[in-house]
Amino acid sequence: MKITSLETLCLSRMHEPAEQWITGSGRTIKADCALVVVHTDEGVSGIGEACPYGIPHLIRDWVAWLSAKLIGRTVREAATQLHPNGRIADYNLVPFINPHDAAIAGIDTALWDLRAKLAGVPLCELLRPGAPQQIELYASSGCRYDWRDPEQLITETLGYRDAGYTACKVRIGTEWRWDNVTTERFLELMTELRTAVGARMRLMVDGNKRLSVEQAFVMAKGLDQLGFAWFEEPFPYEEIDAYARLSAMVEMPISGGEQFTTLEQFRPYFEKRCFKIVQPDVACSGITEALHIAEMAERYDVPVIPHNWHHGLMTMANAHYVAALPRPHSLELCMIQGPLQWAIVAEPPQIKAGGLTIPKHPGLGVELASDLAARFPYIEGHYAVMNLR
Ligand SMILES: [Mg+2]
Repeated sequence: MKITSLETLCLSRMHEPAEQWITGSGRTIKADCALVVVHTDEGVSGIGEACPYGIPHLIRDWVAWLSAKLIGRTVREAATQLHPNGRIADYNLVPFINPHDAAIAGIDTALWDLRAKLAGVPLCELLRPGAPQQIELYASSGCRYDWRDPEQLITETLGYRDAGYTACKVRIGTEWRWDNVTTERFLELMTELRTAVGARMRLMVDGNKRLSVEQAFVMAKGLDQLGFAWFEEPFPYEEIDAYARLSAMVEMPISGGEQFTTLEQFRPYFEKRCFKIVQPDVACSGITEALHIAEMAERYDVPVIPHNWHHGLMTMANAHYVAALPRPHSLELCMIQGPLQWAIVAEPPQIKAGGLTIPKHPGLGVELASDLAARFPYIEGHYAVMNLR
């Protein structure tokens, strides 16, 4: 079986005004999606979703450029041609992740889908025979609340609890300076949230790297006392020694790494014991590199709980990855991506009461829905606009 061509589907869907979401000063107005399809001369295709923060049309350019190295090769040969470079993204051009590595992640996932299809088994079974089929999902959102109405966060989280989720991750809301929010005020809201949802629901906070080191130390102590399950990306990664100090100070795990595309990027954070949970994402790193990261995490006795946002194919790939881990924990599920999240696959998997059942079909277990490019044409421009007060 030889690779004959590669294709990238760039898709978009505008969020209805009421469904737009806000963090900091950004308002997300549309869902972007980048899907990679690897075609072969035997009619079987592999599929993968690349993190669209690499910007879909730039990812498509890189897939086209890389395809020259892959066409005519077997799936196994092709896999050896791909090397994420781990370059830090140019934040002025693309946020979070460079499009080259996102393209590789999409291709690498599609190649693994093909390998498992050739073997006739679900991907997780290929990666680890006997892997569990049931993956716990935690609700990930808390992205909609404005500090003029923070009660929205509690109402939203109660909705996930009532839907059967046993864990939920929230964010830190709109720009704090707009409403003179302090760490004390934030911890008051977290205390209210903790009381409202009850002790049985695990809660996590994602700082999205927006806090200062000083704020993060105050918050971490407070969240630790409130029994939060982890505190994610409190401040920028450049503060590596502060990460190490913070992690050593509190019992509660400090977590991070969602935008790292290579083990090399994780390495100093492992060595300095910065994270007690690491959060690679196969849509950023590809499955091959994510497996290397998991191996190193095991050596450092650090659980892997992948980052997972955007659409359903990414969720399937991350779910197989979780199932293949030596100690499967849980997987993030974006609660606010809108209908495109699962419209991209023909038969979505079963998701109920916070759990996903991996289908028994070979590969990732799902196929792409038809006419996607016609139904969800790509809309040029950034997915977020400035949220002006
Ligand atoms: Mg995060």
